[in-house]
Amino acid sequence: MDYLKFLSKTALNRAPSGISEMRTYLRDASPSLVYLASGVPNAEKFPFKKATFTLDDGKVIEVAPDVLATCLQYGPTPGYAPLLEQLKEMTLRVHNPPRWSTSNVIVTLGCQDGLAKAMEMILNPGDSMLVEEPCYSDTLCILSALSPNFLRVDTDEYGMCPDSLKAVLQETQRNTPDKMPKLMYLVPNASNPSGKTMNEERKRRIYSLASEYDFIILEDDPYYYLQYGDPKNIAPSFLSLDTDGRVLRFDSFSKIVSAGLRVGYVTGPSPLLDRIVWHMQASVLCPPGITQVMISELLKEWGEEGFKRHVTGLRQFYQSQRDAMLQASDTHLKGLCEWTVPDGGIFVWFKVPGVQDTETMIKKRAVKKDVMLVPGNNFMLDTKKPCQYMRAAYSNVSQEKIMGAIKNLAELIREEIALQNSLNSA
Ligand code: PMP
Repeated sequence: MDYLKFLSKTALNRAPSGISEMRTYLRDASPSLVYLASGVPNAEKFPFKKATFTLDDGKVIEVAPDVLATCLQYGPTPGYAPLLEQLKEMTLRVHNPPRWSTSNVIVTLGCQDGLAKAMEMILNPGDSMLVEEPCYSDTLCILSALSPNFLRVDTDEYGMCPDSLKAVLQETQRNTPDKMPKLMYLVPNASNPSGKTMNEERKRRIYSLASEYDFIILEDDPYYYLQYGDPKNIAPSFLSLDTDGRVLRFDSFSKIVSAGLRVGYVTGPSPLLDRIVWHMQASVLCPPGITQVMISELLKEWGEEGFKRHVTGLRQFYQSQRDAMLQASDTHLKGLCEWTVPDGGIFVWFKVPGVQDTETMIKKRAVKKDVMLVPGNNFMLDTKKPCQYMRAAYSNVSQEKIMGAIKNLAELIREEIALQNSLNSA
């Protein structure tokens, strides 16, 4: 594939770091070489001498002194080498990408960092991209600064609709051929905010349209391991369907290990990942060493079976949280709200047909009712339009509190409807 045509002016202007490049000469160096080329601080002066982590089963992991010394220093921009090897092994096992020999994996500061850099790499202001609505709000924050031309694709209970996608592509080609999309962004599994998951047939149809109309797919998949169905029935990822080399896949440890470690990773064609690495050389320099080591040591300790056991436990936990929120909604919100059952993840996406704009309701009066949600307009392409949707997260609240909060939400909605009615009749 010709990747250059997908790059934004900013990405085309990027150059690799001259200082980082000097390290490549070390491949041919004799042991006597004295390296005066880098500006790293003296590691002997770092005040940390030992690090141990205690896991939830009581097991203590002690970071070996040489590993600690390495990870406290500036590290390679694409990530800590042993972790990269583990991520590659995992990606190969789980997704078996058809273009593996020309692909790579890099670590980013959560997948958000990878998304922001990938979008900047591709989009010039006014370039077209395909996007589902509702769309993850923090992606819209990235995009609002890049000012793309949005081509909106309809969604239903299985996520983005291929028929709608085809219609959008055909119409654009007919009416504004210079506005054909370079890029598609989607969250295929347990989407944020809708909780919807796309099946295999859909993914195959969408991928074949991507091949036909030649655009890159950004597959943002931080909830991959939080899909509630039988793991045997999980649909293949876009990465595993990628025979052309047009998918960048974004994974994250935020939802399955810890969000504060800020470790995510991007998998995809090497020429695109190289540009993201150049961007990192100019921004974060390298991902934090100590948190990469924590993940690496944890994965080593767990092995494949331990990892599976861990994510199975997480799925069961979040599913029971979801059920608590659905039960509370059945009890208190029937007739006030509509919602679909999330297939995974951590959110319920409510529609409030009797309320014109949830933002006004939530911002003006939710705090007084001891409950807070995200107004749905944050997930819409036009955030200024009144929106009847809202998002509730069930991940980090006790089931008892979920019941109380949903009861308060019902009162809030009833009051809002009464207020609207009194204003309308005044
Ligand atoms: N994508 C989606 C769909 C998300 O929900 C989130 C987290 N809210 C992210 C990306 C960012 O995750 P990370 O913590 O890995 O940056």
